[in-house]
Amino acid sequence: MERKSAWEKISDKKIVFKFCDEYIKYLNNSKTERLCVNYTRRLAEAAGFRELESVDELKSGMKVYKINRNKNLVLAVIGKQTIDKGINLVAAHIDSPRLDLKQIPLYEDCNTALLKTHYYGGIKKYQWTAIPLSLIGVAVLEDGTVIDINIGEAETDPVFTITDLLPHLAADQMTKKLSVGIEGEELNVLAGSIPADCEKDKYKQNVLDILKEKYQIDEEDLISAELELVPNFNARSLGLDSSMVAGYGQDDRVCAFTAFKAIAETDECEKTSVCFLADKEEIGSMGNTGMQSRFLENFLANLINKQDGSYNELMLKDALSNSMCLSSDVACAMDPTFKSVSEPLNSAYLGEGVTFLKYTGARGKSGTSDASAEFVAKIRKILNDADVAWQMAELGKVDQGGGGTVAQFIANLDVDTIDCGVPLLSMHAPYEISSKIDVYMAYKAYKAFYAAK
Ligand code: MN
Ligand code: MN
Repeated sequence: MERKSAWEKISDKKIVFKFCDEYIKYLNNSKTERLCVNYTRRLAEAAGFRELESVDELKSGMKVYKINRNKNLVLAVIGKQTIDKGINLVAAHIDSPRLDLKQIPLYEDCNTALLKTHYYGGIKKYQWTAIPLSLIGVAVLEDGTVIDINIGEAETDPVFTITDLLPHLAADQMTKKLSVGIEGEELNVLAGSIPADCEKDKYKQNVLDILKEKYQIDEEDLISAELELVPNFNARSLGLDSSMVAGYGQDDRVCAFTAFKAIAETDECEKTSVCFLADKEEIGSMGNTGMQSRFLENFLANLINKQDGSYNELMLKDALSNSMCLSSDVACAMDPTFKSVSEPLNSAYLGEGVTFLKYTGARGKSGTSDASAEFVAKIRKILNDADVAWQMAELGKVDQGGGGTVAQFIANLDVDTIDCGVPLLSMHAPYEISSKIDVYMAYKAYKAFYAAK
């Protein structure tokens, strides 16, 4: 197999750079799954998508969406064929590794107020100290009122951080294994240092006073809150040639953005196009906003019913059996500094295009959906016909580690499914790297896939 940079395949690089300016903006407006749902909904409405509930009868070419509990979004463009003939599904996830506040987070020590966290997803904990963090999410009052909280994203906001030891006194810490150099219960966030005018817990009380004044919330309201600490720095272009994007949350908002752009530009299609933006992938896709929930099936049942008013269970089963899916999640790009963990023949390389993985998993393909040769051939043809730069890869060397995505859960529904996505460097770090040409090729691949018969 001859390897070739995808940059050499395109004549006008400007289109790629312009596309990625929009992508960078998307990342900066989507640092949590809730923000991502809100921002994507705004873009979707501008592109002509309507809430499914507001539509009585679905006709070919109509664009609809449905939001699941503010954390999971699904969009569809109705095809010329009926839904039971199958859909073309692109599924990506919009949750990213981060630090969540615990439900009882606030305490004080050594003249400071601090917040306890519980990390979400697979992180290298030491990467999350000594960087600026924003606190974003909601607190829900007993009467159901949702209070939006976003501290750090506005220019004039304060930020948060987690302290790390000075090297002068890190003699013991520096001899530890990297995995325990910073431990889970050491991920405590600095939140204040002015004492309130009271007898005890002065530093904690001052933070509570500010929360009350600014957000009308009490300490108990934090019990019913979802507050996430995410990197405060924004995504931007990387490298002298600005050929890459550096930023938080590219796993997997890079596939969410490209899949969304592709469906937004799909006005006519043979099969119904569906873009599913899932939550909870980073913690196993469990729960009612994750890919393992029934939400996709319920959504399709509603589409079928609104298409001809005669839903039955067999039509849903036929729809799934006749469908195909790109399970769109990021891949691992060969890192020039850490080449030993990858096998060079079957690695993804930065700039060689959207990456396909026939299987992921670990320990001998365990915990994966292994796409059939027939389906891989079909996808190959769709990509080659559309002149998309693509590569086939695995996730690292055999027995080096491994991982999984949502592919297995969709494949279990009797859908032909393959993993694909954009290769990243520094995956799951607070600052992840993608190549702009790979981002653009993912978008081109999804567009071609939605147009496929
Ligand atoms: Mn992912
Ligand atoms: Mn991930």
